[in-house]
Amino acid sequence: MTTPQEMLIGEARARFGDKAVVTETADIEPWLTDWRGRWHGSSAAILQPQSTQEASLIVAKAAELGVALVPQGGNTSMVGGATPPEDGSALILSLRRMNRIREIDQGTMRAVTEAGVVLQALHEAAADEGLRFPLTLGAKGSATIGGLISTNAGGTQVLKFGTMRGLVDGLEAVLPDGTVHDGLSGLKKDNRGYSLDQLMIGAEGTLGIVTAARLKLFPAVSSRAVAWLGVDSPQAALNILRNLQQATDRIEGFEILPQESLEAVLGHVSGARAPLSGNFPWQVLVEATVEDPDDEPPAELLARLLAPLIERGEIADATISSSEAQAEAFWRIRDSLSEAERATFGPATQHDISVPVDAMPRFMEQAAAEVSRALPGVHASGFGHLGDGNIHFHVRAGTRGGPDWLQTEGPIVSRLVNDLVTAAGGSISAEHGIGQMKRDELQRLAPERVKAMRAIKSALDPQGLMNPGKLV
Ligand SMILES: Cc1cc2nc3c(=O)[nH]c(=O)nc-3n(C[C@H](O)[C@H](O)[C@H](O)COP(=O)(O)OP(=O)(O)OC[C@H]3O[C@@H](n4cnc5c(N)ncnc54)[C@H](O)[C@@H]3O)c2cc1C
Repeated sequence: MTTPQEMLIGEARARFGDKAVVTETADIEPWLTDWRGRWHGSSAAILQPQSTQEASLIVAKAAELGVALVPQGGNTSMVGGATPPEDGSALILSLRRMNRIREIDQGTMRAVTEAGVVLQALHEAAADEGLRFPLTLGAKGSATIGGLISTNAGGTQVLKFGTMRGLVDGLEAVLPDGTVHDGLSGLKKDNRGYSLDQLMIGAEGTLGIVTAARLKLFPAVSSRAVAWLGVDSPQAALNILRNLQQATDRIEGFEILPQESLEAVLGHVSGARAPLSGNFPWQVLVEATVEDPDDEPPAELLARLLAPLIERGEIADATISSSEAQAEAFWRIRDSLSEAERATFGPATQHDISVPVDAMPRFMEQAAAEVSRALPGVHASGFGHLGDGNIHFHVRAGTRGGPDWLQTEGPIVSRLVNDLVTAAGGSISAEHGIGQMKRDELQRLAPERVKAMRAIKSALDPQGLMNPGKLV
């Protein structure tokens, strides 16, 4: 007997051709596992529509047949969000063939792109028009606009531009019954009740398929400079940020890392050099940009604003990039951090967490102390987007564990960290989403929130066919 999945696969092939359906095991295989190799799924096919109409027909047919779908973009999720269930109960719906930039409008400074456009391709297309899409992150060569919207991605420029939620000016989506929501008309004002656009952002594919988006663009940057600072504590770093923000709106990036993380990068990444000659407990990267070439150059701006802080002893030492290559080298240190830490210190339990910005310095110190007290021998530290109140809090086995430490004590550590975050009024997912990795913890720590989300989910997706097993 033909199964519902086989019927859907057959129908998609018959209507949209061989390119719309992948059934070769070897071709499906790379898309069944997340990029870090933590979750493994199974799926009989990848369906790949090339247009919104094709996506709509596939979803409508899937609803009719009761076939579950896992939306997928670049598969760079940090939380197993795009990995299908292990039991083969869902088909993958890949948006990668929907990769057209439909429009870049210099007048309105908006781009309309399809969901499968890779972030870097949008960066390049905007730059060709003298414009810029500011959101950027380490996975920009693979992550797609649909995935970035569905995870409400953050990245390194959130300080000035906000997360994806603030950069979307409308979107087009296929709802779980196959109907198309068209929010691309560019209305500045629209109060027809609930915002379906905003509902889809951060929904992790559980409410439907994002097929296209209208995105905000900004004038291209004419130059940038990156300062590297040595400071005594996260609180000192935050004071510096507050000083800078009071004086200028040109600070885009503000990242913190401990000395040991810098040393891990220096030992692991060939050609990496310490920006400063001394050792400092904490290191800070600050990026300033200007759009108008007649404005004060960013290196001079940073030098002018940082000088009094150095004089007052609030910054122990500082250097400012003197070329684009040096600015890039400083960012490379930051971007290599996770990989270098893993190679140097072994695997860590990783927590992408946020607390109110002003509470973060205290949280970083207290959480590290608390985790070490509860599990003597482990090593805990945080790095990342201090200016957003978002750090990546990593706990390593230290003297405690062998190769299976992650499996044995990892869940205990994560529970402890998540409790501390919740007690501090924070979020257990600042920018990576919930996926399957944090689903049970979200349920444990925020049952009312999950209850409300489930009510929305069951209203829009009563059969539970959209990305089953994720988020709710
Ligand atoms: C090296 C590296 C660095 C990273 N740095 C950051 C960072 O700084 N900040 C940050 O926020 N994230 C970061 N990430 C995480 C990742 O890039 C984001 O989660 C990204 O938004 C996922 O995009 P994607 O196209 O790969 O989506 P996928 O991984 O394919 O999917 C992610 C989720 O979105 C859903 N989805 C995908 N496409 C659609 C669609 N069209 N419609 C509906 N649902 C969809 C999936 O079902 C899944 O739940 C990083 C990842 C890597 C590998």
